[in-house]
Amino acid sequence: MNEGKRSIAILGSTGSIGTQALDIIRRHPERFEVALLSANTQVGLLAQQAREFDANNVVICDESRYEALSQALADTPCKVFAGTESLCALVAAKEVDIVIGAMVGFSGLRPTLAALEAGKIVALANKETLVAAGALVTKCASAHDAPILPVDSEHSAIFQCLMAAAGNKVEKIHLTASGGPFRTWPREKIAAATAAQALKHPKWDMGAKVTIDSSTLMNKGFEVIEAKWLFGLPPERIQVVVHPDSIIHSMVEFCDGALLAQLSCPDMRQPIGFALGFPDRLETGGKKLDLAALGSLHFEQPDTERFPCLALAYEAIRRGGNIPCALNAANEIAVKAFLEGRIGFYDIPRLCEGVFSGVDFAAEPSLDEIFATDAQARELAAQRIR
Ligand code: MG
Repeated sequence: MNEGKRSIAILGSTGSIGTQALDIIRRHPERFEVALLSANTQVGLLAQQAREFDANNVVICDESRYEALSQALADTPCKVFAGTESLCALVAAKEVDIVIGAMVGFSGLRPTLAALEAGKIVALANKETLVAAGALVTKCASAHDAPILPVDSEHSAIFQCLMAAAGNKVEKIHLTASGGPFRTWPREKIAAATAAQALKHPKWDMGAKVTIDSSTLMNKGFEVIEAKWLFGLPPERIQVVVHPDSIIHSMVEFCDGALLAQLSCPDMRQPIGFALGFPDRLETGGKKLDLAALGSLHFEQPDTERFPCLALAYEAIRRGGNIPCALNAANEIAVKAFLEGRIGFYDIPRLCEGVFSGVDFAAEPSLDEIFATDAQARELAAQRIR
């Protein structure tokens, strides 16, 4: 750890998680400094962030935008790089203490592995990394003594509850799900849903990919896979309960029937702040819960008839090996096509199921096999859309 301040690298600083992480850092200049910021394409915002936070290095993943970013920062001491390889090298730099993995999708895998190999604390928001390559990522983390701190609100909640477990074995994890914008819609109406409707999440303000995944419940399915890897529980002991209020962010159950829950207003700055300050809790600027004003909390069973993606994710873990990786790749292609209005809502699970049944199976995939599976699944998905 660099003396006094924690030095932060943010992979995906211009996205929803990245900007909220910077909001926490802005509130606590005595605790944090910014070593590295990276974005996929957003040059303007990245340059502005680099200036405000005095970042030492910035990386634009889209190499065609390197010139524009260089020019935008020409009068600053900030060093400008482009491409994933630069990003992998820079996250491993000695000056970095904590890497926030907030890239979207499979693209976060390589830089996350690079950070773990260098023994960095990884605050992980990019769940697709664990869905696609959970065995490799967790093995890499333990081999290099690199802690993974969950930023996903459900997993952060579980992590916070586990601090009170005092060594007792967890019987079950209860992952809460908001149910998304179509929770109360009948199947026929959901079938005709548009991207604009799916993007209107009732409780959380998030990026487009995760918001669509929330509307299909694929996000919750991925979170089951994420929980399996982070907490080492088999999927039959990870249960999903729909909780439309989004106040309880998840629960753990013990053998005596006790449930521990973590509650807070739905605001990602809580889990982000918890990961950045751990083990300290930081003021995040978020609203505090008013339980009396809230009055009641609600729970219901998830409906896998109307939301088949949740069942697909459980099926993918059951098959194991590279199948969750194929599911993730197919879903990325399907979500993009849905956002572009090229396929319907229920084409997303249809496409995912077709693809993960079509890829070559590998029981214990190497990193190369994970990349091969990802490419094969994307190609199969694209063919089916055509
Ligand atoms: Mg979540």
